[in-house]
Amino acid sequence: MNTLKKLEILADAAKYDASCASSGAARKDSTGGKGVGSTGGTGICHSYAPDGRCISLLKVLLTNVCLYDCHYCINRRSSNVQRARFTPEEVVELTLSFYKRNYIEGLFLSSGIIRSADYTMELVIRVAKLLREEHHFRGYIHLKTIPEASPELIAEAGKYADRLSINVELPKQESLKKLAPEKNVQRTREAMSTINARITETKADRKELRKRRSTAKKPIFATGQSTQMIVGADDSNDGDFLARAGDLYGNFKLNRVYYSAFSPIPEPSVILPLQAPPLVREHRLYQADWLMRFYHYGVDELTTADAPNLDLDIDPKLSWALRNRHTFPIDINRSPLEMLYRIPGLGVRNAKRIVRLRRHHGVSLEDLIKLRVNLKKTMPFMICVNHHPARLELSSSDLRAKFAPPPKQLEMDFSAAPIVPAAEKNMVKQAGVEALHGEF
Ligand code: SF4
Repeated sequence: MNTLKKLEILADAAKYDASCASSGAARKDSTGGKGVGSTGGTGICHSYAPDGRCISLLKVLLTNVCLYDCHYCINRRSSNVQRARFTPEEVVELTLSFYKRNYIEGLFLSSGIIRSADYTMELVIRVAKLLREEHHFRGYIHLKTIPEASPELIAEAGKYADRLSINVELPKQESLKKLAPEKNVQRTREAMSTINARITETKADRKELRKRRSTAKKPIFATGQSTQMIVGADDSNDGDFLARAGDLYGNFKLNRVYYSAFSPIPEPSVILPLQAPPLVREHRLYQADWLMRFYHYGVDELTTADAPNLDLDIDPKLSWALRNRHTFPIDINRSPLEMLYRIPGLGVRNAKRIVRLRRHHGVSLEDLIKLRVNLKKTMPFMICVNHHPARLELSSSDLRAKFAPPPKQLEMDFSAAPIVPAAEKNMVKQAGVEALHGEF
């Protein structure tokens, strides 16, 4: 099989993995003509093709042959797909030639498990080692690690990669048992703990060297780790996903948790759902995740025992506000910053600007317009110098309807391909825009 054919198969097999978004990593640059590539300067930019692939990285599998039989995965042992395998040298050559042609800014490398977890991990590490040590590649490298591999190998991978990731895949052990019988939450946690310990240690060592103004060579290790969970492949509710994400951020300092809506794969396993979850569910999870990380919301505030799933029609911050109307209206000229974060439509950046502004004068609607605050969303929930919402409006049962999309008649559609309604696409688009601005 020629390289092009292998690339076709292995790049296609890798597209289901969403955990490849990269962040800037400033430790390498090739100024002075030494080596090739750089993570500085223009930085790493990443854009997504419509099928979800991160197109600025060469996103590829070393092989799609796998010993494991994870039901949600197209590369599982029992799947009837064409198999291919790169040698580490072939991946290195591809990466360098793509990089030199300016097609990519780095490599995202994952692999099916062949022979054993350790053997596979060694091959993955070999690619990164060759790139870094033989070819002095300074571009971005993201390696997918295998939790079952030995901690020494996982730690070694971190010496060459900018980012490591281990996919949690499903939030509950029971689901993993059913859908990925060879995987184990505990092993994943141990591997994440190993990576986290090394990241923390390396940061502390580097800080110490900086403090002593030492010229000694700084230790190098990946700057972060991330993971992915598949949404809609099992019966886990949004509360389960957010609780697992909260646990991972808290205990292992993960940079990102990615939520990937399960899409029925070719050659699906019979125990998988036939339909994909609504796309908007994935976006609501991203919004809730954002609220946990930047707005200090607790998991138990975003979902409750009575409502374990996020509202698909309105964003989770608005949903919380509507459930907690007694907290509002909030006076933006008097309340602490943390309370301003709770006002729907007011993002972290604008809340901080308001706090700065109110030191000089009372903040008015005109100021909010200048700050481009989403007034339609904000006004029922806040007080400013020339606005006080009517109590009646805040307690009105119509308030939710003001923000939710109009109800529509559901269609009976039994065709195999899930159809995403235009309204839902727009909501997803809107959610994406809100996430970009962080203004929920
Ligand atoms: S171990 Fe990875 S590649 Fe193998 S079947 Fe499971 S998810 Fe797929």
